[in-house]
Amino acid sequence: MASDQSGPYQVAVGQVQRVGGMLGLDQGMIDLLSRPKRELTVNFPVTMDDGTIKVFTGFRVQHNFARGPCKGGIRYHPALTLDEVRALAMWMTWKCATVGLPYGGAKGGVICDPKRMSPGELERMTRRYASEIMPIIGPHVDIPAPDMYTNAQVMAWIMDTYSMNVGYSVPGIVTGKPIPLGGSKGREEATSRGLMYCVREAMAVEGLKRAGATAVVQGFGNVGWNAARLLKDELGLTITALSDSSGAILDKAGLDPVSVYEHKQRTGSVLGYPGATEISNEDLLEMECTVLVPAAMENAITSANADRVKARIVAEGANGPTTPEADLVLDEKGIMLIPDVLCNAGGVTVSYFEWVQDLQFHFWSNAQIRDRLNEIMTYAFARVYATAGAKEVDMRTAAYLLAVGEVVQATKLRGIYP
Ligand code: NAD
Repeated sequence: MASDQSGPYQVAVGQVQRVGGMLGLDQGMIDLLSRPKRELTVNFPVTMDDGTIKVFTGFRVQHNFARGPCKGGIRYHPALTLDEVRALAMWMTWKCATVGLPYGGAKGGVICDPKRMSPGELERMTRRYASEIMPIIGPHVDIPAPDMYTNAQVMAWIMDTYSMNVGYSVPGIVTGKPIPLGGSKGREEATSRGLMYCVREAMAVEGLKRAGATAVVQGFGNVGWNAARLLKDELGLTITALSDSSGAILDKAGLDPVSVYEHKQRTGSVLGYPGATEISNEDLLEMECTVLVPAAMENAITSANADRVKARIVAEGANGPTTPEADLVLDEKGIMLIPDVLCNAGGVTVSYFEWVQDLQFHFWSNAQIRDRLNEIMTYAFARVYATAGAKEVDMRTAAYLLAVGEVVQATKLRGIYP
């Protein structure tokens, strides 16, 4: 079994092998699911502001096409590796299948340090990367989206580059675009809204009352801040602790996420928020609470701290915040973990809505987005929960059994070509 120290791709393959074994898949099918269908590595030059040429390396990995076009983000990071991109592409396949979106998984990125690049350098690098991966992307082939250190502006450049090359506007080539270019309403908060719907359903099946219930959120970026806001405003939970990379704050009487957000905008950190006590990020994860939301980075809950987690529900806002070893510990403690492939799938679901709207050139209201997201997340949660009960497994294993099972079914129905 993969351990806390395993690389992401090793973890991802280990998961497929375990679930493949439980589903009784033959080795050929497990091999097929363990490897990406297509991988492209591109090395390309960019003219920097000082006139020098710098060569960047980028990737696009498409894991599986069985259920539809590929979908997945683009990450800009100095430590990006092909193995990491492979794992992220595979997880996207399972995430899309878990919530029933007609997509396979993909991921891409460029090895670069966007914090040290000017807007002009970022734009030239993005446009050249988009041109380099153009042979394998397309609105019916593979639809990129933002991921770490890429945003709506980067998507706008990709959309324009692709459109310039084909000679007409193709909004459906990427999602997470600005609204004037065919972006969707509700995309900004989509991941957190989906998470909130999952927490609502989990509390209901666990028989937990909302009155007096508390939530603790690690990470105060897009996912963490919107999750804290929605858990408070829509479910009435008391937010007792919040954190970002600089540290954590605690107020048992309840923190107001909007006011903490304004404080962070002013000062750059959640620390120093009036009336709150400062605690460490480690202590935050071990606090007594109804719901713990890890919404920062991978490997937050490991075999080193899992036995001290006291939440009743862990709602994975981040991708991969719990290691496989920690999963076992949480399960033994009777803590319900809502796995990332389900819990943070609201983001890709509204991306799917954006793509559908772009293909139809017909746009939906906020209320329509919320209703459809609620419907998809509620149904997906119920399906995973029912499978966990029927197969007597934890929620992550249940989600994987369903997701892998559906990709296998699609593969078998299509047959092995030729
Ligand atoms: P973000 O960059 O907006 O925010 C990340 C936050 O985590 C920041 O507040 C940062 O200060 C904090 N952080 C970093 N290291 C920390 C640490 N050691 N302890 C506590 N806080 C720390 O990123 P995001 O978009 O909110 O994404 C967060 C996670 O959610 C990532 O794992 C991402 O892959 C996942 N995710 C995001 C989306 C989305 O729609 N944005 C969708 C699905 C999954």
